[in-house]
Amino acid sequence: MFYPEDIQNLIDEFSQFPGVGPKTAQRFVFYLLKRDGFKIDRFIQNVKKIKNIHACIKCNNFSGEKICPICQDSRRNQAVITLVAEPQDLMAIEKTKDYQGLYYILGGLIDTLKKTSARDLKIKKLIKRLQDPEIKEVVFALSSTLEGEGTVLYLVDLIKQNSEISKRVKLTKIARGLPLGGEIEYADEITLGEALKGRKTI
Ligand SMILES: [Zn+2]
Repeated sequence: MFYPEDIQNLIDEFSQFPGVGPKTAQRFVFYLLKRDGFKIDRFIQNVKKIKNIHACIKCNNFSGEKICPICQDSRRNQAVITLVAEPQDLMAIEKTKDYQGLYYILGGLIDTLKKTSARDLKIKKLIKRLQDPEIKEVVFALSSTLEGEGTVLYLVDLIKQNSEISKRVKLTKIARGLPLGGEIEYADEITLGEALKGRKTI
């Protein structure tokens, strides 16, 4: 027995979401089938609005504007940039309320198993961003996994090849307060806040 085409199409859509298999996708669709028209319309409107979200031209964070509110905030410390892999990591650091600098989102980590190479990350744009003479420190806040460590080594080497940037910019790394192999996104606020405060020069 098959579902009507409209239901199957929606199940197929949800099945493409990360971590969602056909069974969960089916549950999502059944849930929607039980909602009234108004709630479904609101859901559709919210999905549509996502189309207006773009990557911030300075830090790659999700933003409804060209430059995200963090990069626009002149009260933040313009001299410090924290490097993170994904927008979720930025959100985790923001939650600590301990950090007042700016960010740069790489868009992943170098991962040979997943075939993510340096070319897949926003590294060229990072080097360009670091040419801003206001920047005095880059804080590496990447996960303490093999991929995170490898990405730090790669980037440190790359930055050190640029004498103008490496003379002006201090490179630091958040302290190892995080569990080994810990993902930044899942670290609790206090641990993450302490790790940021205890950063060390590379
Ligand atoms: Zn931004």
